[in-house]
Amino acid sequence: MKARILDGAALAARIREEIKQGVKELHASRGIIPGLATVLIGNNPASVTYVRNKRKACEEVGMRSFGYELPAGASEAEVIALIETLGARADVHGILVQLPLPPHMDADRVLSAIPLHKDVDGFNPINLGMLGVKGKQAPFAPCTPQGCIELLLRNDIPICGRRAVVLGRSAVVGLPLALMLLARDATVTVCHSRTTNLASVTREAEILIAAIGKPRFVTADMVRPGAVVIDVGINRIEDPKHPKGYRLVGDVDFDEVSEVASAITPVPGGVGPMTVAMLLRNTLIAAQRQSERG
Ligand code: NAP
Repeated sequence: MKARILDGAALAARIREEIKQGVKELHASRGIIPGLATVLIGNNPASVTYVRNKRKACEEVGMRSFGYELPAGASEAEVIALIETLGARADVHGILVQLPLPPHMDADRVLSAIPLHKDVDGFNPINLGMLGVKGKQAPFAPCTPQGCIELLLRNDIPICGRRAVVLGRSAVVGLPLALMLLARDATVTVCHSRTTNLASVTREAEILIAAIGKPRFVTADMVRPGAVVIDVGINRIEDPKHPKGYRLVGDVDFDEVSEVASAITPVPGGVGPMTVAMLLRNTLIAAQRQSERG
């Protein structure tokens, strides 16, 4: 079997077009341009690139982006004061604090300072906690898990009643994703570094999601024939033939697994572009809700 490719790049481009239209409509009806403020602390090269890409994506759909950069040695109090200032601004509808934070900061305290209605990354611990409360709708779900769910929905892959296995339990991907699948009535198993007989668990999955940060960890023998495989991992591996000296691979051995699975996301071009699209969508929704509140 050769798996269907779930093309996240193409889907994200369609979603960005929808958002562009939504931005135009909000401007025409209420005179509001959605604004996203990014807060970057330090100069971690990956974080610098992520923030640059998110700001560019905002501008491409007609949103405003406000970039704030603080040195790695900034105090937690300074960061929180900045977030509070942004929280009070009418032209800032969403606030994103790029993770990871420097080790001297308490991420929970910093992220808790983001007002829930502007928490477009969905990482305020209250927002995350609400994902686990049955019947409660969190104001915003985190973007990467939301991107995975959207990829399934827009490719007509049913979730309700299916056996889903999530590899990884981080607060940013694995755990919220497991809760979101559960909320959509999948039967969910979460695996982590202490899981025993991992392959026997993953082979039960009708939907298998890998978010562990280990290059090509999931091999064909770990996948049930016909499963849908979503690869969240982004890992650099050395490649002397590549101009940059490295290339990106996922947590799934794509070549092997695409022979067994019924559908699979590539890396790059799978979940990654969906994450940015979901951030833009959350920012538009935040601006729409704030305009309705007046
Ligand atoms: P993380 O915080 O390092 O968490 C990794 C998780 O994987 C942990 O729960 C860990 O278990 C589990 N794990 C590690 N080794 C394992 C093993 N051998 N077997 C089973 N589970 C194992 O990573 P993360 O932030 O969730 O990111 C995961 C991957 O997704 C990374 O490659 C990251 O770059 C990528 N990512 C992509 C996007 C995107 O937009 N596409 C966004 C965010 C992250 P323990 O809890 O027991 O330690």
